[in-house]
Amino acid sequence: MSAASEQQAAAALAATRDPSRRSWIDAANDPACDFPIQNLPFGIFSHPGNTTPRVGVAIGDQIVDLAALSDAGLLILPDPSAVDFDVTNAARVFANPALNDFIALGRDTWRGVRKQLSALLSSGNATLRDNEALRESMLVPIAEATLHLPLQIPGYTDFYSSKEHATNVGAMFRDPKNALLPNWSEMPIGYNGRASSVVVSGTPVRRPNGQLKLPDADRPVYGACRKLDIELETGFVIGRGNSLGEPIGCEDAEDHIFGMVLLNDWSARDIQQWEYVPLGPFNAKTFATTISPWVVTLDALEPFRVAQPAQDPQPLPYLRHAGAHAFDVSLEVELRAEGAAASTTISRTNFRHMYWTMAQQLAHHTVSGCNTRVGDLMGSGTISGPTDGSFGSLLELTWNGQKPVALDGGGKRSFIEDGDELTLKGWCQGNGYRIGFGACAGRILPAHPAQG
Ligand code: CA
Repeated sequence: MSAASEQQAAAALAATRDPSRRSWIDAANDPACDFPIQNLPFGIFSHPGNTTPRVGVAIGDQIVDLAALSDAGLLILPDPSAVDFDVTNAARVFANPALNDFIALGRDTWRGVRKQLSALLSSGNATLRDNEALRESMLVPIAEATLHLPLQIPGYTDFYSSKEHATNVGAMFRDPKNALLPNWSEMPIGYNGRASSVVVSGTPVRRPNGQLKLPDADRPVYGACRKLDIELETGFVIGRGNSLGEPIGCEDAEDHIFGMVLLNDWSARDIQQWEYVPLGPFNAKTFATTISPWVVTLDALEPFRVAQPAQDPQPLPYLRHAGAHAFDVSLEVELRAEGAAASTTISRTNFRHMYWTMAQQLAHHTVSGCNTRVGDLMGSGTISGPTDGSFGSLLELTWNGQKPVALDGGGKRSFIEDGDELTLKGWCQGNGYRIGFGACAGRILPAHPAQG
């Protein structure tokens, strides 16, 4: 690309983030809407009129059907010959039941699609705005759609990168005087999670059975988890993998990220406490992980980039990056008891508090030569802020059940009860608009009868 055309491409991308840009879809212009024209997150949807899951983009209260748009010749993949991928039919990529093949086309393609969609949906563009038949075949109300897991997830890794969370948990489970282990400040601690049990928002979650060891007992019992919890996290999605044996440098790491989702890493605290020494959590975390259905691209999040917290000691060279690599994402957790009229906001915090950045997590993950693949999911770790009401788990909010949280309209919670619905929400607040993630929700079903 010549310098002039590169400049032109950068200007066109910047225009998709222009806060003054408006859409002819009215709901998108509501300042409280999660999906303004500046967002354009990708997901997988179906609806009664077409039950085949395929790629869509959320705008306002609508989903744009990219397969239909592509079939109509209104969405062109920028330069198929330039990508290292077998692109014979763009509609096939958008007609897939997962985003992976689209993501594999590469960042220039994501950006090309973003620019075309932003133009088509802008208030001044008449192509769809003034053509009712086209609009009817391209748009589906979100309220009428089923949202599916957006990715085929080859691997799921979960980090532990909030200093406040690691300190709180270390104080409760080990030793308040040495809550943070010495390795924590030197690297983003993580473990390999379980991709098979990642589910999309709205999927019910079954309370797990497992081994529980009561404080005074010699041996464990088998039974239903009594300390079921959430973990408020974000996740990032790998957009470009690396080859086995070839680490990703910290400075290049964001080029490998497609976008972000909200993530609830459901946790069974009693199972966790008994099983986690010496190899870390296993059954306490593998029964379900819920993600939000829309993947918000780094291109949409760019205006909300902020400096990460100061790091002391200075990280080793392979974990250093110049510039700002945290993102200002407001986060909330709501709990609604079964049959309750209202939900209670039990936590408010922000992703910007995270000590280790996504770039550092990815650089550390691959420093050994571990390969990553398109669609891999990386959890941030529980996001806890510095104050009591900003903790990202009930374990911390109630201090292991000692200080139950009061629910609006009566009742209280130490841990999650059957029938409770937990919802994570997240958004970046712009001037007059916000880049939202939609909801990440799950309701708890009773455990199967224990017959251990
Ligand atoms: Ca976690």
